[in-house]
Amino acid sequence: LTMPALNDPTLLTDACLLDGKWIKARLGDTITVTNPADGSVVGMVPSLSTDEVQDAITAADRALVGWRALAAKERSIILRRWFDLMIANADDLAAIMTAEQGKPLAEAKGEITYAASFVEWFAEEAKRVYGDTIPGPQADKRLTVIRQPVGVTAAITPWNFPAAMITRKVAPALAAGCTMIVRPADLTPLTALALGKLAERAGVPAGVLQIVTGDARSIGKVLTDSETVRKLSFTGSTEVGRILMAQCAPSIKRLSLELGGNAPFIVFDDADLDAAVEGAMIAKFRNAGQTCVCANRFLVQRGVYDAFADKLAARVAALKVGPGTEAGVTIGPMIEEKGAAKVEAHIADALSKGATLKTGGKRLGGLMLEPGVLTGVTTDMAVAQEETFGPLAPLFVFDTEEQAIQMANDTIFGLAAYFYTRDYARVIRVSEGLEYGMVGHNTGLISNEMAPFGGVKQSGLGREGSKYGIEEYLEIKYLCSAL
Ligand code: ADP
Repeated sequence: LTMPALNDPTLLTDACLLDGKWIKARLGDTITVTNPADGSVVGMVPSLSTDEVQDAITAADRALVGWRALAAKERSIILRRWFDLMIANADDLAAIMTAEQGKPLAEAKGEITYAASFVEWFAEEAKRVYGDTIPGPQADKRLTVIRQPVGVTAAITPWNFPAAMITRKVAPALAAGCTMIVRPADLTPLTALALGKLAERAGVPAGVLQIVTGDARSIGKVLTDSETVRKLSFTGSTEVGRILMAQCAPSIKRLSLELGGNAPFIVFDDADLDAAVEGAMIAKFRNAGQTCVCANRFLVQRGVYDAFADKLAARVAALKVGPGTEAGVTIGPMIEEKGAAKVEAHIADALSKGATLKTGGKRLGGLMLEPGVLTGVTTDMAVAQEETFGPLAPLFVFDTEEQAIQMANDTIFGLAAYFYTRDYARVIRVSEGLEYGMVGHNTGLISNEMAPFGGVKQSGLGREGSKYGIEEYLEIKYLCSAL
């Protein structure tokens, strides 16, 4: 057992948060959390029974009555305290995250700041849930619109952002007056539970936020089957998103889905190449390439292809792979063998079809992968259609703007896209032509709490963050009054 050293060791827990109580595992019913950097055990969490998850739904329903009745300002104050506690405990939260997820400590701390920003933002937005008055069609009619919380909600979250994917859902839900049950990824439940500890200290009442760990399928089934649960917010793969959407159909549950991506990163001839390389490093190699908005396909115009490839390869070769706790490390381990094997399979497939590894691409032992750059990549290769989700940059060539847009849109996904150009008219044409929910122009970093995050096509439904994010947790009620 190698636990991270913490200023406040009580943040690391082996219990789930159910109706204001911390529930430990029954003997034998545990999930082991391991450190992807060395395979050591970081902790254990309970594998809850479906009855316990059912109890959580009952508790969430009970807690809803008091929580939605609070003044928005009262909920706002509690959320604001949660934000303050996250910032005050950022070092500990980052240490727990790196231990279970693997990302470099500085990146983990960055994620805590990012995660906290959603709590701060929605603490503010809680007070801005406005209604409308509408002119009546007849003189004796008064039309009013109010917004009310959806009710009991559930969240299922992934391992790549163990904190931010939780606060991006919990904060707007709680701000709106909903209660929420969170089922974090089994690979990274410890960060989620630590956030639960801080939420409790901030004054979030029993049952308003619950965190349940255990078998994904059975917990998912209980949450989706329930008629009490009115909404599900899921972040993860498109594959699992489809399953959950189908499971939510019988109860006509509201859904927010943040699913897979296949982000193009387009570099035009007129781009500032150094800036494009800088943006590429961020868009591709953050979290060792394991983010849904990671650039998956680099589309480079023929005139700058070789120069861009050279510059990018030089930067990539200088990245340092290793345990996230080690100074200077910029690329941590892959989260699990399955993920590392997929990157290797994509490399092997590309090489067999004529691509060249310009740098990297080797396994360094364990789950450590050397970041790589592939040149001579064509659309018949697996990297063209599938999300690699690892530190590999495949470079495709294109000739015209129309061709770049066509290639960029040739996917079932539509989450994030990036492009680099200094031509203003092109900025307008390309950003309007890309079938994506989010477009970065001359930048590789687009996520922040003030902007609407979300995808089109099979990348999902709904938006998180921004003024739109809270709408996902609100119902519109229209009142028609006759005088
Ligand atoms: P990733 O590739 O990011 O792990 P997944 O879609 O496989 O994406 O998983 C995202 C989250 O959904 C994880 O918490 C996982 O445990 C959970 N999950 C996977 N399959 C199911 C399912 N059938 N029902 C409910 N949750 C699931």
